[in-house]
Amino acid sequence: MKMIQCNFATMLGVEPAALSRWYWAGFTDAYEWVELPNVAGMGTWGDGGALASKPYVASGAYVNRMSNYCGPCRYDVKQRTGPDACPMNFLYWDFMARHRERFAKHPRMRMMTKHLDGHGRRGTGPAPASGGRVPGVAFVRSRDVRRET
Ligand code: SF4
Repeated sequence: MKMIQCNFATMLGVEPAALSRWYWAGFTDAYEWVELPNVAGMGTWGDGGALASKPYVASGAYVNRMSNYCGPCRYDVKQRTGPDACPMNFLYWDFMARHRERFAKHPRMRMMTKHLDGHGRRGTGPAPASGGRVPGVAFVRSRDVRRET
């Protein structure tokens, strides 16, 4: 569950330190030695890649593969656009679009920027760099991935 929350927060652009504080406040087992590597490091890429070689972000397809959450969900995990599209898909491609320039040179993310470009050409993906406006989801984006790769 924590990795899904971190995935969601990273794609939204939530400040990793703020997310860590939220865990500290809400979970009795949120010890510092757990939060630093798991949330600030691997979960949100808040260390810019010191711990993990790429951001741990995933679209709805990954959530669907790794859990049973999608079956009863009101959204369609296979759709990328439209009112029934899974928000995780939108957020994933929006995240990729916001960081396209950086990831185009990243050995483990390069392929996804090619997919992003393909969606753009074919019109099969969400409008890129939407400014974080996901229908039905209100949030404030407070940070983006900072360190250059
Ligand atoms: S279909 Fe629903 S449960 Fe599955 S990833 Fe999308 S929002 Fe989450």
